[in-house]
Amino acid sequence: MIQTQSILVIGSSNTDMVIKSDKFPLPGETILGGKFFMFSGGKGANQAVAASRLGGNVTFITKIGNDIFGKQALQQFRKEGIQSDFVIADAENPSGVALITVDAKGENSIVVAQGANGALAQSDLEKVKAEIEKHDILLMQLEIPIPSVVYAAQIALEQGRKVILNPAPAMPLPVELYKTLYIITPNQSEAAALSGVEIADDASIRNAAQKIKGKGVANVVITLGARGSFILSDTVEGFISAPVVKAVDTTAAGDVFNGALAVAIAEGKSISEAVAFANQAAALSVTKMGAQASAPYRKEISTSPQFSKH
Ligand code: ADP
Repeated sequence: MIQTQSILVIGSSNTDMVIKSDKFPLPGETILGGKFFMFSGGKGANQAVAASRLGGNVTFITKIGNDIFGKQALQQFRKEGIQSDFVIADAENPSGVALITVDAKGENSIVVAQGANGALAQSDLEKVKAEIEKHDILLMQLEIPIPSVVYAAQIALEQGRKVILNPAPAMPLPVELYKTLYIITPNQSEAAALSGVEIADDASIRNAAQKIKGKGVANVVITLGARGSFILSDTVEGFISAPVVKAVDTTAAGDVFNGALAVAIAEGKSISEAVAFANQAAALSVTKMGAQASAPYRKEISTSPQFSKH
């Protein structure tokens, strides 16, 4: 039995409503589409599900509306084995939804109504402060208000907890947030946005990571799609390749990566072992359709860290 520390995910949950259609409607036009699908989504929920399936001891704090979507989301979290007693109910705002149209070419057009996610305020988190203090690893993203992210990170750090931030979607971060982070996990475009470095080659990946690390983060992990990831910390620097797979759908690859990374850190793995594990889980997820649907279970992952120092 692997000894594992506990993981708290604080972040968004959404219901994705997808209509497949031959084409997108023009402004003012109504068209008849094809099939309709409904999925659980939101980066916070996706990462909590991924971590739980990979064997993490996961608690999830998110904010949901008093509606059918919120109720279904809560049921889903529980079904996934996620501790959900601290999910926050919003009396004013509806649960987050994303309306997605997918055309015949597989192109997306998406409108998100953040709803309760956008109302997850510091005052909500103050009420669950003891929970934030209690868990060993705190994993967050940027689909909830930044002041809430900063508050939770500071509370966790005061207790010596490890804070992992997936800075997605890309947006400028307050300087004080960087210093609270144990790991930051931008993808290539987020790394470019955070560092101001245009990423074109290995040297610029390294340069971007150095710029981000210079802001005070202990470990910078830049995810590089099919190529895997790049790590920069005080002790390790280098590329870790992802297994070569046949990619079918890369939606939520980053979410699986972050959930897996948190699990590996919770199990006491080194940063390079943890990133190798996260690459494996994320690579596996791109071989299947869907966001949460493609998140792998622990038994599907083999462990063969591939580390190449450059
Ligand atoms: P995001 O999905 O957030 O844009 P990336 O595209 O960098 O992030 O993917 C995150 C991780 O998913 C990568 O670091 C890698 O481990 C894995 N991954 C993504 N695409 C592929 C692929 N085509 N083959 C193998 N692994 C992949």
